[in-house]
This record gives sequence, C-alpha cells and structure tokens, in this order.
Amino acid sequence: MDRIMTTIASNLQAVRNAITAAAVKAGHDSSEVKLLAVSKTFAPEALREAYRAGQQCFAESYVQEALDKIAALKDLAIEWHYIGPIQSNKTRAIAENFSWVHSVDRLKIAERLSEQRPTHLPSLQLCLQVNISQESSKSGVALEEVVALAQAISKLPNLKLRGLMAVPLQTEDVVAQRLPFAQLRKLRDQLNQQGLQLDTLSMGMSHDFAAAIAEGATIVRIGTAIFGERD
Ligand SMILES: *Cc1c(COP(=O)(O)O)cnc(C)c1O
Repeated sequence: MDRIMTTIASNLQAVRNAITAAAVKAGHDSSEVKLLAVSKTFAPEALREAYRAGQQCFAESYVQEALDKIAALKDLAIEWHYIGPIQSNKTRAIAENFSWVHSVDRLKIAERLSEQRPTHLPSLQLCLQVNISQESSKSGVALEEVVALAQAISKLPNLKLRGLMAVPLQTEDVVAQRLPFAQLRKLRDQLNQQGLQLDTLSMGMSHDFAAAIAEGATIVRIGTAIFGERD
C-alpha cells in the first residue's frame, strides 16, 4: 500500500487511538466500543478509502444518497447502518438494504420495518432514538414513552431491539456532555430490569465521543473527525 497514509486513513487511526484511550480511562475494553464511520455527504471514493484502512461499518442519514452508495460499493463487505430521519414511504428501502437502524422513534415505523424486512436476511438490528435533551430536538421518542415503545417493538418479528440512541444538545463542557449519556445508560439499565435485553448504547459523535465512552457507549458514530467538515 501507499507509503504515506491518506488523510482519511490517518484520521481513522487517530480516532481509533482516542477511542482506545477513552475506553482504558473508563476501565472498559476498547473492543466493546464499535466505531461507525458516518459518511453522509461524502462520495463513495471516500468510503472506499476508509474501508481500505480497515473500516467496515458505515452510517448514512439520507435514504436515496445511501442507496446510491450501497450500489456503488457492493463489491465491499460493508455493514450499513441507517441513522437518519425515517419517513413511512422509505421504510421498505431501509428494511431491504441495511443491517442496523438507530433512529426508530415510532411504533408505526417499527411495524413497517418488521413487515418489510426480507425473511432471507438476518433480523434488522434496531435502536430507539431517545429525545434526551428535550429542549429543542424534534426527533426521538419522549422519555416517558420509551418503556412502552420498547416493550411493543421487542415483540415484533424480523427485528432485534438492541438498545438506545441519542443525539444530545452540543456543548464543549465535558462534564455537561456526560449527563445525557449517563441518563441514557440508566434508561437502558431500567429497561433491562423490566425484562428487555438491551446491549447497545449508540452515543457519541466527533466532539463528544470520549464523554460517551466514559458513560458506557458501545457504538460511537463519527463523521467529521474521519472525513473532515461537511459542506
Ligand atoms: C451526522 C451524524 C453523526 C456524525 O456527526 P459528526 O459530528 O460529524 O461526527 C452522528 N450521528 C448522527 C445521528 C448524525 O446525523
């Protein structure tokens, strides 16, 4: 391979090192933290470069853009994750083309994904998006509705409810960053006490993944720190 690492390859290495450092500091094994490369707005060639540097899991936020990339990269063994808003008329494309969906916040959407998941594929792996900083964000299920929604979704066929996802309000204060992540972890633990078996906390982005790992993130979703700023 190239003697000089590409920017994407060296960014990836730096992110991996930072994940390991954060995990060690928190007393976790870094193998418990999965890195999702958030590739929205970047061209297939950028993903190919990250893949060559050892990255296998990619996340997209817009269905049509994702379908174009999935087609362009079908020679690669990529695991595709969907993390964007979900409209009813896009559930079939999501059910047929992704391994994971992190952004489910309504029963109706989960029911459609369940019905439309092709039975020759493994169950669609699913996280509920929780509206953890309730001030502004419009997406995500409200805290008081999480238990009922999780219980209902866990009974649907062709889906496997794995855990919770959140996008807290941004802050540079690392102490404040940890609060919503801790809240999401407690909510996951509470659901498990009620009989669910959730092993996943999908939390942490480029600016706050260290705080998320300190609070037990099992998946971090990182775009900018790998691919650079989006337009
Ligand atoms: C874009 C996006 C990310 C990645 O954000 P960065 O700040 O670029 O790391 C993570 N999660 C979701 C839901 C996103 O939409």
